[in-house]
Amino acid sequence: MRLLSLLLLAAAAPPEAVEVAPGTVARWAADGIVECRQSGRRSAPLGGACYFPVDLLAGGEIEVSIRTAAGETHRRLRVGPYPYPVQEISGVDQKYVEPSRADQERIRREQERVGALWKLASARRFALPLASPLPKLPEGGRFGARRVFNGQPRSPHGGADYRAATGTPVLAPADGVVALAEEQFFAGKAVYLDHGDGLISMSFHLSEIAVEEGEEVKRGQLLGKVGASGRVTGPHLHFGLRWRGARVDPALLFGDPAALMALE
Ligand SMILES: [Zn+2]
Repeated sequence: MRLLSLLLLAAAAPPEAVEVAPGTVARWAADGIVECRQSGRRSAPLGGACYFPVDLLAGGEIEVSIRTAAGETHRRLRVGPYPYPVQEISGVDQKYVEPSRADQERIRREQERVGALWKLASARRFALPLASPLPKLPEGGRFGARRVFNGQPRSPHGGADYRAATGTPVLAPADGVVALAEEQFFAGKAVYLDHGDGLISMSFHLSEIAVEEGEEVKRGQLLGKVGASGRVTGPHLHFGLRWRGARVDPALLFGDPAALMALE
């Protein structure tokens, strides 16, 4: 009798939380998924799977579920410890480390315009994997690094850096609409694309911008050229992704989606 009640208790206990790393995407594939849900927000499955982006600075637990004809299945994700290293960067123009009053005001206005993009919820225009934003994507990244500029700690690195010569074409990683294309204080000449389903891609530090706000672009289309505008120490492409507001490592979405952290 005692054993039976213990067994019943065990059966009723909620499933253990699954640990996920911040800045990654978990994938839950199952037959006949009709809807995905993360922290109450619904999304449509993509290629027979649900995707759950976990922000770089997320903590605690995240509730996710999938719905099939058989009903809804839930999981709890527990955000694991911050896995990214510290990166010391010196030789940055001091105006980027200690911006003037006027520059702080400019930064605030730019953050407002950019922050509005995380709330976009247009229809999905992309599939996975995403296309490379450069004709040949070098090793690179440093996504998530906690950064220290000229000895002063600043925000962690929300994207990945790819070294490339000035003038190298920068390409759209998927179909989308140009949500913002402007020169910004930190990002320099920057192009933000809305790919739908809350996925925003960012290409920073360009030498030239080849698209205009509101323009529809196709996967592989020229967005601009690699440069060294904004807070940089040399020419490179900073490529970032926000998916439903979460900063995730872009390198994860250039590869086979089946290689992402799997939930079942
Ligand atoms: Zn960067």
